[in-house]
Amino acid sequence: MVLGFTLFLVIQVTGAAVVEALFADPPSDGSGPPPEEEKYRVRREKMVQEQLIERGIRDEEVLKVLRNVPRHLFVSEELWEEAYEDRPLPIGQGQTISQPYIVGLMTELLEVRPDEVVLEVGTGSGYQAAILSELAARVYTIEIFRELGEKARDRLKRLGYDKVEVKIGDGYYGWEDHAPFDAIIVTAAINHIPPPLIQQLKPGGRMAIPVGNPFQTQNLMLVRKRENGDITIKNVLPVMFVPLLGEH
Ligand code: SAM
Repeated sequence: MVLGFTLFLVIQVTGAAVVEALFADPPSDGSGPPPEEEKYRVRREKMVQEQLIERGIRDEEVLKVLRNVPRHLFVSEELWEEAYEDRPLPIGQGQTISQPYIVGLMTELLEVRPDEVVLEVGTGSGYQAAILSELAARVYTIEIFRELGEKARDRLKRLGYDKVEVKIGDGYYGWEDHAPFDAIIVTAAINHIPPPLIQQLKPGGRMAIPVGNPFQTQNLMLVRKRENGDITIKNVLPVMFVPLLGEH
């Protein structure tokens, strides 16, 4: 009994030490990155550990990218301190940058490989597109609000995410010029799966999309197009996204 308790304490202390080490202050000898950058790196590590790994995200490539992409630079400076919290944040026009866990989960579901081409509907801040561009050959992303799309385009360029192309328009209809896509991600909710997106998915392709009534809880769905063109749909998780806008 006493041994069991001691063992438990040792494990607890060791666990705490590992966590401390992971989130520890940077070396003060000037050899590490600047303190501000290091502060956010430490927060990203904590975000990945507590919000993604502990909730079951396992894909090492996805985790690596979420550790690297500076999420705070995709929101306005007043929100930098909140950028790694477990929730969506406002980005203007009544829109949001999705919660880190949802970004990680949807990215993992898409199983993107380095030679693949991805379509995103709902550019928002450009964060999800930046994440995907670290895994794919090319990312095409569509935003319905000109102001958000242009801001995201400038930001992605400034930060060096040069595999992303942003278009202003209604993503419901996809992006015919660059179709078919190996993977499609829709980051706004709609009550049906847009037929043009199914059509623009390659055989073997995957699509992650929140389906259901906007303003209520929706279901995150994983759609697969088989090599023979058959469609399978898997219900993954209840989610809450902003609505997909436009006249459909
Ligand atoms: N992926 C974004 C990011 O990483 O910041 C977050 C997306 S936010 C949850 C949903 C976005 O979809 C909003 O920016 C919204 O303006 C956009 N949107 C809504 N309806 C759209 C449509 N029909 N076509 C393209 N974008 C749309």
